[in-house]
Amino acid sequence: MLVIFHPDATEAQIEAVTLRITATGAGAQRVIGAEQNVIGVIDGDRDHLTSLELDADPGVDRVVPVSAPYKLAHKHLHGERPNAVTVSGVAFGGPDAAFRLILGPCAVESSEQTLTAARACAAAGADMLRGGAFKPRTSPYAFQGLGLEGLKILAQARAETGLPVVTELTDLRDIDAVVEYADCVQVGARNMQHFPLLTELGRSPLPVLLKRAMGASIDDLLLAAEYILTEGNSQVILCERGIHAAATPARSCLDLAAVTVLKEHTHLPVIVDPSHAAGRRALVEPLALAAAACGSDGLIVECHPDPAHARCDGPQAITVDSLEGFCRRVRGVAHAATAA
Ligand code: PEP
Ligand code: MN
Repeated sequence: MLVIFHPDATEAQIEAVTLRITATGAGAQRVIGAEQNVIGVIDGDRDHLTSLELDADPGVDRVVPVSAPYKLAHKHLHGERPNAVTVSGVAFGGPDAAFRLILGPCAVESSEQTLTAARACAAAGADMLRGGAFKPRTSPYAFQGLGLEGLKILAQARAETGLPVVTELTDLRDIDAVVEYADCVQVGARNMQHFPLLTELGRSPLPVLLKRAMGASIDDLLLAAEYILTEGNSQVILCERGIHAAATPARSCLDLAAVTVLKEHTHLPVIVDPSHAAGRRALVEPLALAAAACGSDGLIVECHPDPAHARCDGPQAITVDSLEGFCRRVRGVAHAATAA
């Protein structure tokens, strides 16, 4: 249950309602970052709480029953309106936000490779640059990323191109460095349920790009987002990147129905990663076009100046030479899909 207050409700009125809720034994969590003051009611007895008729209390605008297990990720919190998340001036989602393209290499491999890619991404009209400095690899023998040196290269690429940077955090011990250098912190599919990481990012000042785990349900993903939201960070972008499905001919099965279903349930922006779902270059653009058509708020796509020699995910990287046409076509589809 969410108790949503009038914009002019006083602190005394909010406090009085809070006391009535907690007196029933339920928890009352003040929601930070909502447009109106909101209290999320947690773990209460439904009938007892309903009998309080809190919607008649002074200062209360409305009471919204939320039966979903996630509360703050629920779209009711924002009165059914989508909510924009802004990363260094670039808005994702929300009524007026454009279709956003995050482009860049899977991993930061060298300053030359990253800067060459970043320049091509900027020239093609990217909104943000991606690149992993810390790579979660299946094999411990695979390239693990350049770490701090990689973060510094990303900062250099941002300084030169003006593009904000999103990079993955895999380990709590690196959070300060990542927050210092990045504009947005990525939580990868393998860490979607790394709860201490989510909690800590909920206390950080940066927006979070949260990728769906390969075996996660929609509720699992929204509850992972809830870990960040409950700590006060309302800036969460969700990302569908493909789920495990034994029968798929691709690396993962891109679940585009999830985009629509997420939009039915949450106000948070939703983007799609066609690269990790595809696993090979030929599938990236068809999946990207489908994602642009299905109502996502943007894409995150891997590219490389020399995919054949990439140290990570080369087979799915599109070439930097193809970026301009790729961006034009996906933007065209996104535009057509939202035309009046
Ligand atoms: C990545 O974006 O490079 C990545 C590792 O993605 P995922 O976590 O979706 O596999
Ligand atoms: Mn990758």
